Amino acid sequence: MAFASHSFVFLGPPASGKGTQGRRLSDEKGWAYLSTGALLRRALRDDTELGRLARPYLDRGEYVPDDIMLPGVLDWVKSQTGGWVLDGFPRTVPQAEALDAALEEIGLPLPKAMILHVPDDELRRRITCRLECESCHRVAKDGEGDSCPKCGGPLAPRADDASGAFESRLAEFHRLVVPTMQYYTDRMRGRIINGTGSPDEVWVRIS
Ligand code: AMP
Repeated sequence: MAFASHSFVFLGPPASGKGTQGRRLSDEKGWAYLSTGALLRRALRDDTELGRLARPYLDRGEYVPDDIMLPGVLDWVKSQTGGWVLDGFPRTVPQAEALDAALEEIGLPLPKAMILHVPDDELRRRITCRLECESCHRVAKDGEGDSCPKCGGPLAPRADDASGAFESRLAEFHRLVVPTMQYYTDRMRGRIINGTGSPDEVWVRIS
């Protein structure tokens, strides 16, 4: 199956590599990139209205309700003039439907989904050694030092990677994102990719 359009959504469980691979695709192609998780963490840090609305959900490891998530993301998508990559959106079938409807309304091609598959036990292993740059939100591994190799910002564990919140996020993934994956595969717009192995190995499969 060849992908003709230049818009992609990355779907997968937490710590499956959506951010690493999605960002790499956008960097290589010169396309725009939006991570909704990073957007929310930034809003929390800057204490914006979005941050205040989203905080209780993020603290519990729950998904932020669609009515809070949708307006900003759809505005971003509609404002793009070239290719783009969304990381972490859509996470629910209503989000996928709203994204398709917004693009159809303005006559743009519908996105294809890159669906990363990684077993739960491998995900649990990955989060115990995951750090994120607080400035540019790139992912790093424990042992890579205190500062981001890309921008020099501080590296820290993500609050929502603490084990209780992580297990809630994993449960939310199985309940809500798995049907969203099905939404794309049912429409022949989803490709399932083995997300195990090194980032370079996964990238070869994506390319
Ligand atoms: P991520 O960085 O993609 O793992 O997202 C971190 C957290 O942000 C998730 O566990 C959710 O609580 C929230 N989040 C990110 N994207 C969405 C979305 N599309 N819909 C609802 N909640 C989201």
